[in-house]
Amino acid sequence: MPYLDYVAGAPVDERVVEAMLPYFKHPGNPSSVHSKGFEARNAIEDARTKVASLINADSSEIVFTSGATESNNLAIIGYAMRNKNRGKHIVVSAIEHISIINAAKFLMKNGFEVDYAPVDGHGKVKLNELESIIRDDTILVSVQHANPEIGTIQNIEEIRDVVDCALHVDATASLGKIEVDVQKLGADLVTLSSNDIYGPRGVGALYIRKGVRVNPLILGGGQERGLRGGTESVAGIVGFGKAAEIAEKEWRDEAERLRVLRDRLAEGLLRIEDTFLNGHPEDRLPNNVSVRFSYIEGESILLSMDMEGIQASTGSACTSKTLQPSHVLMAIGLKHEEAHGSVVFSLGRWSSEEDVSYVLEKLPGIVERLRMMSPLYMK
Ligand code: PLP
Repeated sequence: MPYLDYVAGAPVDERVVEAMLPYFKHPGNPSSVHSKGFEARNAIEDARTKVASLINADSSEIVFTSGATESNNLAIIGYAMRNKNRGKHIVVSAIEHISIINAAKFLMKNGFEVDYAPVDGHGKVKLNELESIIRDDTILVSVQHANPEIGTIQNIEEIRDVVDCALHVDATASLGKIEVDVQKLGADLVTLSSNDIYGPRGVGALYIRKGVRVNPLILGGGQERGLRGGTESVAGIVGFGKAAEIAEKEWRDEAERLRVLRDRLAEGLLRIEDTFLNGHPEDRLPNNVSVRFSYIEGESILLSMDMEGIQASTGSACTSKTLQPSHVLMAIGLKHEEAHGSVVFSLGRWSSEEDVSYVLEKLPGIVERLRMMSPLYMK
């Protein structure tokens, strides 16, 4: 049965589980000064090297966290607090993940000014407008690498050219799907998530370029170079490392395979009358198909699909509790009713041709039945 909600949650790769297993039972605390502690420490440092290698960084530039939300908070709040003597203005794109938007709101309540960089109808940051928003006292700009909801990939290198302060890039959705090379991106801070590359949940990392200073948010015993207190989740970090090692070897072939499935799925869905693609038609993630079906609600489509064994989502799983139309879809200029009719199909490592065929067989009927019940649909 097609699980096409990889953006919300992905299974952990069996090879990752294998690598983690010994560390669930391992007693060593990485800070302990004895052989068991050293073993745990070595396992963490080995994982750090693997994560760093995936993004072309030095291992000393990787700080492990509990996930992308914490990494985003550490990047935005930690950087702003540490560098506030240089300015109190930050800029985030209008389609950032809610963990960045809310971190920015927190800063606003604490004496900072925040501006949102607008995006065009495909979700690309408008470079001219970004340039005009940046001020002399802007200390940080945050723009995601790719959007998980509409799939649009930003040209970070072009953005880097107009940003003359620190640049944070949330690479949660892009890691393992397209190239994430921190040297090419020119980013100072990069958010990474383990589960998005088929590692365990509850682990992430923040890349902090050498020389960039950030205040810790979690105060404790000085772990992670004093940037993240608390005894490390050794098994989780080992799993993230293994997932990164696999991703480094396999992401190119995997992306190519997914791109073919994605295009077949998108073409088939767009054959349904009054159905439109969200996001950029070309510069999009190889695993993302975001479409809107006019006249019907995304939630009813999700429930109807689920009854047929198909799982997808209406947007960011993390914000779907609010019932507000997605801020991403509003930022690209959709009307409320268009935003509400949107569904994201996200493919992953175990998606197959059969999954796509099954969705394309079921969806036209589901959409037609829901439209027949919709007061908005007059034919
Ligand atoms: N950033 C992006 C782009 C995301 O899509 C998500 C979650 O989907 C996050 C950050 C937050 O990830 P987590 O909930 O794993 O902390």
